[in-house]
Amino acid sequence: MSIRELTHFIGGTHVAGTSGRFADVFEPSTGEVQARVPLATRAEVEAAIANAEEAQKVWASWNPQKRVRVLMRFVQLAQDNIDELAALLSSEHGKTIPDARGDVQRGLEVIEVCLGAPHLLKGEFTDSAGTGIDVYSMRQPLGVVAGITPFNFPAMIPLWKAGPALASGNAFVLKPSERDPSVPLRLAELFLEAGLPAGVFNVVNGDKESVDVLLEDPRVKAVGFVGSTPIAQYIYETAAKNGKRAQCFGGAKNHAIIMPDADLDQAVDALVGAAFGAAGERCMALSVAVPVGRDTADRLVAKLTERIADLRVGPGTDEKADFGPLVTAAARDRVHGYIAAGVEEGADLVVDGRGFVLDGHENGFFTGPTLFDKVTTDMSIYREEIFGPVLTVVRADDYEHALRLPTDHEYGNGVAIFTRDGDTARDFVRRVEVGMVGVNVPIPVPIAYYTFGGWKASGFGDLNQHGPDAFRFYTKTKTITQRWPSGVKEGDLEGAHVGDTDHFVIPTMD
Ligand code: NAD
Repeated sequence: MSIRELTHFIGGTHVAGTSGRFADVFEPSTGEVQARVPLATRAEVEAAIANAEEAQKVWASWNPQKRVRVLMRFVQLAQDNIDELAALLSSEHGKTIPDARGDVQRGLEVIEVCLGAPHLLKGEFTDSAGTGIDVYSMRQPLGVVAGITPFNFPAMIPLWKAGPALASGNAFVLKPSERDPSVPLRLAELFLEAGLPAGVFNVVNGDKESVDVLLEDPRVKAVGFVGSTPIAQYIYETAAKNGKRAQCFGGAKNHAIIMPDADLDQAVDALVGAAFGAAGERCMALSVAVPVGRDTADRLVAKLTERIADLRVGPGTDEKADFGPLVTAAARDRVHGYIAAGVEEGADLVVDGRGFVLDGHENGFFTGPTLFDKVTTDMSIYREEIFGPVLTVVRADDYEHALRLPTDHEYGNGVAIFTRDGDTARDFVRRVEVGMVGVNVPIPVPIAYYTFGGWKASGFGDLNQHGPDAFRFYTKTKTITQRWPSGVKEGDLEGAHVGDTDHFVIPTMD
């Protein structure tokens, strides 16, 4: 296989890397290196920021409706090219083609909501807030903003960040994951083809070195991050220290509570898809099943074991595969390390995926589905994010015990409850300390016009991704209090305080 050499995308064109430093991009189902991605120098990142800064002035001067027409054309172009995008994405990430299409599609749904930007960006207006005084507010773009994104959704998450940022009149510098950078580069081409002015959307490939330039440069006004928790926290703190806005989303440990009255077949179906889909490399993957009561637990584990035996693991191109390989050998070895730790810590290993080998793909980064029973809260396989096809079962004595588990866990991204009882579901939804909740829905990723965000160690910052929060994050509000003296009749100002000649008194509106 010839190895492709990837680039950056700066100022509307592909730019070869000059650092001499590269990262390998693998084909996870064969284990072969298929491309090399350059890791940017400080000067390359600064060139992207400078291009973005220039281009943003023009872009922000376009009226909002003209801007969203570009996004509308982009959605159409991406839809027209979705097969190519999905194949490219699958070949670097390893997820199945239908799953890769979903990755692109969920990103485009956010852009579709951004087509309403002219409405979402409207300010407020109060006529005659004081005598002859009107007060209004406007939302203005921040300028240049940056996105730093993870490997597991190489289309969706860059689009979740870029859509609202661009619709609000900002220019964007994306630093995608170095493990699957080809789709972000392709998205940059499609933005340009859709009519986005050159320099408004840039891609710099790199590692910590390029991220640190984005975090330090005063021209970057906001940073949106998605990835693991330690890096999310680092980026949040560093960006804040440098006076930038930051929203940083981290790791997860998502629980599914299975009540004794749940439709067990439906719950098992949901669990198998949510735990093992995309080889568990989803921040909303369900990695902890919490059956309530011994009988529920015994029945659940028996049914899960049966269903797991039917799962098909294969390359992303296998139309019948339920899930594909892990992204890298390091990711696979890390998952295997957790399985060994679980055994060491005394959990009951019901299904062991470590021995899985696929004929003809012996060097692929595959791991079979793995199931642990009788996991306890002190074990590392419960406390830490594994990010692989491993489902752990923690048996709960009763509902209150089950509710405490996700509530007390360090992470708080997603959670689900399976029950037929409305009272229990309502109580759970109101009391659980987690940002996104599903009731008989395994992966409660909110639809694009609501916001997405986890609590506790799963999210740092006070505004969520997409939905109305995204427009607040990517704009600054200006509030104007104005009076036009010629509009005030003689005598109108009697008793009014705003604009009084005494400028040392705080004006009031009574
Ligand atoms: P990661 O933290 O390793 O990398 C994320 C990004 O940060 C990449 O662009 C990477 O190049 C960069 N990065 C890595 N190390 C860095 C460092 N030391 N300094 C600065 N930048 C650095 O995450 P990943 O492995 O790509 O993605 C998987 C993680 O992302 C999981 O923890 C998953 O739960 C999380 N995730 C969270 C959400 C969410 O919305 N909460 C969504 C998707 C993924």
